[in-house]
Amino acid sequence: MAIYLDNSATTPISDAAKAKISEAIECYGNPSSLHDAGLKAEKLITEARKNILLALGAKNAGELIFTSCGTEATSLALLGTAFAKERREANRILITDSEHPSVANAAKRLEASGFEVVTIPTRGGALDMYALEEALEKKIFLASFMMVNNETGALYNVKDAFAAVKEKYPSAITHCDAVQGFLKLRFTPAQIGADLVTLSGHKVHAPKGVGALYINKELLKAKKIVPFLVGGGQEFGMRSGTENVIGISAFGAAVADIYPRLGEVTDKLYSLRAYAAERLSELDIKLNVPEKFAPQILNITLPSIKSETMLHYLSNLGINVSSGSACSAHSNTTSPSLIAFGLDRHSADCSLRISFSEYNTTEEIDALADALNAGISSLVRIKR
Ligand code: PLP
Repeated sequence: MAIYLDNSATTPISDAAKAKISEAIECYGNPSSLHDAGLKAEKLITEARKNILLALGAKNAGELIFTSCGTEATSLALLGTAFAKERREANRILITDSEHPSVANAAKRLEASGFEVVTIPTRGGALDMYALEEALEKKIFLASFMMVNNETGALYNVKDAFAAVKEKYPSAITHCDAVQGFLKLRFTPAQIGADLVTLSGHKVHAPKGVGALYINKELLKAKKIVPFLVGGGQEFGMRSGTENVIGISAFGAAVADIYPRLGEVTDKLYSLRAYAAERLSELDIKLNVPEKFAPQILNITLPSIKSETMLHYLSNLGINVSSGSACSAHSNTTSPSLIAFGLDRHSADCSLRISFSEYNTTEEIDALADALNAGISSLVRIKR
């Protein structure tokens, strides 16, 4: 049996989501149709929306917009607020220097259209509050800070950061990419002071092809965000296109499966991570531990063995880990997140990400530790 320790790239589909997929597959109606088949499909979407809103401590149906993935939700957040021209009071955006490419590249797109983008350092895995205060000396219209870094597992203090933003500019918009935080840690958009929150289905045991953007109702009322996918007006006019009924209902079922057990799931992930940290610290490996960290990610640096070399070695033994985020693993560039964390280029190129789900076991971590130990001995020998 393969050992899957790359759950920050994507997660296996849960039994709850699989059962809902089987049910939804029979509901072929278009949710916009008024006949019975359409209503059945619409009901599935309504149920999923309720489940996810509940997990976000929200109630208003219009506050959750289903998208095709987390990346699309973030594009809607960044481009949608930038496009709401008449309501925008400034031209500056703040992001961190270790955002996922879905934020970093959306910000680049805006920069190319004349916006000023300022990046806040996250060295050591902490959002630099002094740099943030300095950056807030000039007015901003949007601050987009991720909750959990997808490569280091750093847990950023978005609550204090968004509070600082709102204190200085109450009308500024706050967006949080919570793709790696959702259903790993307990939070609500209201608690962290985020007007917009990005979620992704496939990171929480739903299939790929579905995500969501939480949009605070005040922002909607003030028309401070406009859709960039226009057409038939689905999803309360914020995201046109016939809905992915199967994906959305599976997302809702996956969330309903985890949310009531969230405390237990978080504890299990933290204990797997602690066990892995203990086992791997016995080896010739450096653990890259952020100031505060999420429960599901452990980043390590190998002794002068390229990440890809070890990744293939482990993969041949049936153990799946990551050499960086799924998005950068094919691009052959050094991870900007690891550089932002403070690693030098060589160390960053020799780093691996191990990421857990509640389905992992300590026996699997033992197998990983043994394989890494053997791999380090044989690969270092080859290099000599
Ligand atoms: N944000 C973070 C932090 C992620 O880790 C990812 C995926 O790896 C995304 C956004 C993008 O999500 P999706 O794959 O659903 O587009």
